[in-house]
Amino acid sequence: MMDDTLFSLAGRRALVTGASRGIGLTLARGLGRHGAKIVLNGRNPDALEAARTMLENEGLDAVTARFDVTDQDAVIAGVDAIEHEHGPIDILVNNAGIQRRAPLEQFSRADWDALVATNLNAVFFVGQAVARHMLQRGRGKIINICSVQSELARPGIAPYTATKGAVKNLTKGMATDWARHGLQVNGLAPGYFQTEMNENLVKDKEFTKWLCQRTPAGRWGQVGELVGAAVFLSSDASSFVNGHILMVDGGLTASV
Ligand code: NDP
Repeated sequence: MMDDTLFSLAGRRALVTGASRGIGLTLARGLGRHGAKIVLNGRNPDALEAARTMLENEGLDAVTARFDVTDQDAVIAGVDAIEHEHGPIDILVNNAGIQRRAPLEQFSRADWDALVATNLNAVFFVGQAVARHMLQRGRGKIINICSVQSELARPGIAPYTATKGAVKNLTKGMATDWARHGLQVNGLAPGYFQTEMNENLVKDKEFTKWLCQRTPAGRWGQVGELVGAAVFLSSDASSFVNGHILMVDGGLTASV
């Protein structure tokens, strides 16, 4: 008999951080199309409302929750408000992230701190705040957005690489602490995708030439290609998958 509920997210509520654009918005839409009710997080109220309206016009169930993921008090208040006003968070996608580029010897302390705050501290803050509710229910899915830079460095982005390597191991730590309580915590690691964050790289013909040679698939990723992995890690299909980092990178990290 066919099991058509294995990948279904019907009735589940998903909080996606950094969901006003880029990968976060695409993942929110993808989870919504598989039945999830979506909670869009970000800082800019206009961008969030525009994203919500867009999803609503597509027939999806979406609300917004504006808070800065680097502010632990705001995170706890924001997560509690979602649980109180809308209902249980079944799926968390820790997606909000930033990039800063400079040679390491010139890298400023301010940029280092911003990267660690957004890319690493926030995963702990939001993960812990949401997990406290999930643990009481004995179920929940957490997906931490990692990167090819969880494994490999590139010139000019050593601090970003440090944060994404740490998110990979934080994912394993979360799984180790919480799997026995019914949570599945995994990482989703995108390769190079055409988003606002990578705008300058996409325009850079030399970089694109290098990337296409370096990536076995021979091209940039399109953000929609991340959805299948996110649905898998959000659904019952991954009920015994824990602490895994799923690379979606056209084979980049499989190849030298
Ligand atoms: P974008 O810059 O396009 O979007 C980032 C999102 O995060 C925005 O919605 C932004 O909204 C939000 N955000 C940033 N800071 C905060 C904050 N402090 N609190 C709440 N929301 C915040 O990024 P991408 O879509 O490209 O990247 C998303 C994730 O994917 C990141 O973790 C990134 O590291 C990772 N990634 C991206 C790759 C790529 O090719 N693009 C490759 C590998 C990993 P606002 O500014 O309004 O708050």
